[in-house]
Amino acid sequence: MATLHDRITAVHIRIDTATRAAQRPLGSVRLLCVSKTQPAEALRAAHAEGECDFGENYVQEALDKIASLADIRRHLTWHFIGPLQSNKSRLVAEAFDWVHSVDSLKLARRLSDQRPADLPPLQVCLQVNISAESSKHGLTPDEVPALAQAVAALPRLRLRGLMSIPAPGDTGAHARRARLLQPGMDTLSMGMSEDLEAAIAAGATWVRVGTAVFGPRTPEV
Ligand SMILES: *Cc1c(COP(=O)(O)O)cnc(C)c1O
Repeated sequence: MATLHDRITAVHIRIDTATRAAQRPLGSVRLLCVSKTQPAEALRAAHAEGECDFGENYVQEALDKIASLADIRRHLTWHFIGPLQSNKSRLVAEAFDWVHSVDSLKLARRLSDQRPADLPPLQVCLQVNISAESSKHGLTPDEVPALAQAVAALPRLRLRGLMSIPAPGDTGAHARRARLLQPGMDTLSMGMSEDLEAAIAAGATWVRVGTAVFGPRTPEV
């Protein structure tokens, strides 16, 4: 059976191979280890393999892990990547470094207001629903420019770019999203275990990889 070390090594080889194939600089695509449903000890083991960026989807589960890993907090960067209800924004503004799933001005304002003054600005991406599935969270492409402008003006947020989750089989989605980048954005959060090569070819700067790093998840809540 593949160990965590083997899986992480294999994911980095996939990322580097796709980065070279796209004629992009090595190191321009970073691995965000998606750790939802994984126990804190799995994250600790991934950190021992050199991983520092973890993506979480559920607020309470994430806060428990952040607390369990408090001794290595300064080495880690926590990314919130799931749907975020306004009533939980304060917890995220206080505990995380990045939020990839900002999809309204209301949520952005709350995060900016609630970001503690002693922390650096919260790094954020706008979540775009590029496959136009009514069931998915995210902005429509034509909502992006106005929200980007409004979010960029919020004092305690730093707008970095766009995130989305294409529908399975939507092969043009990555390229369509890349074309929505606004002036000043340097980040495209796209690509998961199954589609990271296509995402890198289209310009991804973060690939969000869960299964290929940690192995299959136990059923989600
Ligand atoms: C779970 C999840 C991922 C990782 O998916 P894998 O297929 O396990 O790599 C990436 N992004 C988001 C938003 C997720 O919820």
